[in-house]
Amino acid sequence: MRRTLIAGNWKMNGCLANNAILLADLKALVNPQESVEVAVCVPSPYLAQCRDLLRDTTIMLGAQDVSARSHGAYSGEVSAPMLQDFGCRFVIIGHSERRSYHGETDQSVGLKTVAALAAGLTPIVCVGESLAQREANQTEAVVGEQLDAVLDAVLDTVPAAELARLVIAYEPVWAIGTGKTATPQMAQEVHAVLREKLAARNATAAQSVQILYGGSMKPDNARELLAMPDIDGGLIGGAALKASDFVAIINSAV
Ligand code: PEP
Repeated sequence: MRRTLIAGNWKMNGCLANNAILLADLKALVNPQESVEVAVCVPSPYLAQCRDLLRDTTIMLGAQDVSARSHGAYSGEVSAPMLQDFGCRFVIIGHSERRSYHGETDQSVGLKTVAALAAGLTPIVCVGESLAQREANQTEAVVGEQLDAVLDAVLDTVPAAELARLVIAYEPVWAIGTGKTATPQMAQEVHAVLREKLAARNATAAQSVQILYGGSMKPDNARELLAMPDIDGGLIGGAALKASDFVAIINSAV
């Protein structure tokens, strides 16, 4: 049985004072549940602050990107062992904003995923199609290629059973931060395709992989999305910045 994962992606938002308020509110409002895991993926400079504030809570910590390299002359990069050092359990990899603004490719996303796994982090690997690709009926092909690149890279270094350590986030690019959401049926169709692709590599691991939906998930649409059989949680952007909304989404999963 897969647990539900609700992960907040703060993107490039926050400051010391506001982070402290948001996390205090979350700590007060989140009711720990056996069936639901909760995480916040925060900007790197705030990892230490958030780690300290989340100590002794069930809310887990994540980052929003990671280097494919472990150390060395790569100015500006943050490595997976560094994220581990700061208490991260998760790292988002290949978010569409990084693919479009920072030139990340399916191949670099694959290498970053391998680096995260090697350091014991749980990668949340994002895949998703643009509006033009959806309208051209290319959704399955696009997300399939994005996933295959990651699976190829991972399976070059770890046994197929280890695929169970991945988390995948299906995030249609046209739904991110736009207020447009995939219908539960649209999302479920893509999630089922992704799980089939995983199963082609390792059927048992595919049943354990959490596949999250992301793209304008809000308190008023979360319950229906999370009720779909292959939607195992949410990657939440805007709504993760308001404690009451984030908690309402978590409670929709219970
Ligand atoms: C995201 O950033 O991953 C995301 C899904 O954003 P939003 O919820 O704001 O659409």
